[in-house]
Amino acid sequence: MGRLFDLTGKKAVVTAAAQGIGRAVAEAFVAAGARVYACDINKAGMADLKGAEAVGLDAARLDHIESLADHTGPIDVLFNGVGWVHHGTILDCAEEDWRRAFTLNVDSMYRTIRTFLPGMVEKGGGTIVNMASVASSVIAVPNRFAYGASKAAVIGLTKSVAADFVGKGIRCNAIAAGTIDTPSLRDRMRAQGDFDQAMAGFVARQPVGRLGRSSEVAALALYLASEEAAFTTGQVHVIDGGWSNA
Ligand code: NAD
Repeated sequence: MGRLFDLTGKKAVVTAAAQGIGRAVAEAFVAAGARVYACDINKAGMADLKGAEAVGLDAARLDHIESLADHTGPIDVLFNGVGWVHHGTILDCAEEDWRRAFTLNVDSMYRTIRTFLPGMVEKGGGTIVNMASVASSVIAVPNRFAYGASKAAVIGLTKSVAADFVGKGIRCNAIAAGTIDTPSLRDRMRAQGDFDQAMAGFVARQPVGRLGRSSEVAALALYLASEEAAFTTGQVHVIDGGWSNA
């Protein structure tokens, strides 16, 4: 038996690759042998990302995605990592917040999938992994109105693509992560005023007793991207320290 989770010879596009989960996914895909196009609006943040080609890209912009596709040609793996958290209930969510949540969290994935899927179909196969969240159709999380609604849309989008293209060698799965220790999560904790108290609150809702690590999510993404996951598509893969099981 060869190496497990081997992506040698595969071309992979990873969005939100400058930090957090997307960064860990890009690193895991590089380590697995893939040719990785690491894409982020913050190109400078990828200067120290070894083994990947850094591409400055706004995932909300179709013209950026189309230029990327012209550059990469057909790819084998697409990891959609971009996501934005709006804090608050529906009453705190102005039209522009709602639009921004859907533009960044859903439209971005619609656009990357619509751009890269034809090349995958032509090749006879490909895998798509979309970052959702347990705050979605999995569970309701207080003050995550626009985020939860948009991440539920990511799950619907994932299932639909999976169902429509299962006969063409395409797999499309979603990852529903719980609370993962990333730079943006730490920023949100700081924004709450008392960082330590905010951290304690986040840890308290994890039955495992700690936050998740980006590397743990990346391991799941690598599995889903690899041949070892050939029998799973259209699924929501929950990785949340037991949160949604509590
Ligand atoms: P993060 O906020 O730490 O990093 C996001 C990256 O995306 C940054 O490098 C940023 O520059 C980039 N980015 C932002 N807007 C962009 C755009 N328009 N185009 C391209 N790049 C853009 O992210 P994270 O916490 O690692 O989360 C990654 C994904 O996982 C998101 O979809 C998020 O919703 C999801 N998620 C995160 C958690 C968590 O607890 N951290 C939990 C569940 C799901």
